[in-house]
Amino acid sequence: RASARKRSAGKAAAPAGIAITHPERVVYPTDGYTKQDVVNYYRTVMDWFLPGVIDRPTSIIRYPDGIDKPSFFQKHIPSGGLKYVGSVKLKEETGAAAIYLYPQSAESVMELVQYGTLEFHPWGARVATPDLADRVVFDLDPGPDVSWERVVAAARLVRKLLADLELESFLRTTGGKGLHVVVPLNPPSDWATVKQFAQGFAGALAGIHPMEFVAVSTKSIRHQKIFVDYLRNGRGATAVASYSLRGRPGAPVAVPLRWEELGKIKSGAQFDIHSLPARLKRLRKDPWAGIDELEQSLDKVIGKLGGA
Ligand code: ATP
Ligand code: MN
Ligand code: MN
Repeated sequence: RASARKRSAGKAAAPAGIAITHPERVVYPTDGYTKQDVVNYYRTVMDWFLPGVIDRPTSIIRYPDGIDKPSFFQKHIPSGGLKYVGSVKLKEETGAAAIYLYPQSAESVMELVQYGTLEFHPWGARVATPDLADRVVFDLDPGPDVSWERVVAAARLVRKLLADLELESFLRTTGGKGLHVVVPLNPPSDWATVKQFAQGFAGALAGIHPMEFVAVSTKSIRHQKIFVDYLRNGRGATAVASYSLRGRPGAPVAVPLRWEELGKIKSGAQFDIHSLPARLKRLRKDPWAGIDELEQSLDKVIGKLGGA
């Protein structure tokens, strides 16, 4: 997957066969960005974006009439189907099976963009092994009264506690208010183990730093604190894809960072549809280099957490 990026580095992917209708339609009214701007964005970042979504069941958020109009959260293939988007039959929580969609190529992404998609939210598992998680995401959600400096410090604490468990982690802005700390698992773990780990880790964090973190989603007690949203880690749960646009004013983007960059970042929405492509041109190396080669798992971790 990394080699796909190298092969066409610098060149915009130009998926054939996807006709874009209404390219002039304004999608971000306060900023004036059009559907063509969105198409150009995904073309430009395609080689960076694809590895994070390819072959993963992916929920999309479509904004066919722009971000000020109703949006559609969609995880299933629409009746009538799609031409380039992958489909996979997966069991739902209810036990019934449903046809989930997943990107399998640049064409898949552009077809979804043609249907108004701005946001992509993949599973932490791949279509071939939906019951095995290869990504744990700690979603740091600051309460309304929490300063950005505290969010930064919190992310560093999460990294440190993970490192104490001998787990390497990776950082991403969400394009929104917070940060995601991502832990790759190789070999992957079943969802029950991942859930137990994520909940245990969030609880341990809140236990060690009770003034900073809270591990329960009750809104009223989250005001002055950072909610460690471990609920992103279950079968069927999603987190925003790296390099996905967000359907929010300013067209912000979720962006992988090196940990060393965190001190220079001013908000979760630091990068947008313009500044992110500029950043990628300057980058000499993938900020998440090595994530796919890393071998680490939860095997030895669960027992240690109790004493953390
Ligand atoms: P922010 O930094 O502003 O919190 P975020 O992307 O982390 O941005 P959250 O609301 O914390 O936004 O949600 C985290 C992830 O959980 C989302 O990216 C999305 O993939 C998933 N998610 C959130 N809300 C829902 C929902 N109602 N249904 C399904 N998935 C959701
Ligand atoms: Mn969040
Ligand atoms: Mn959240």
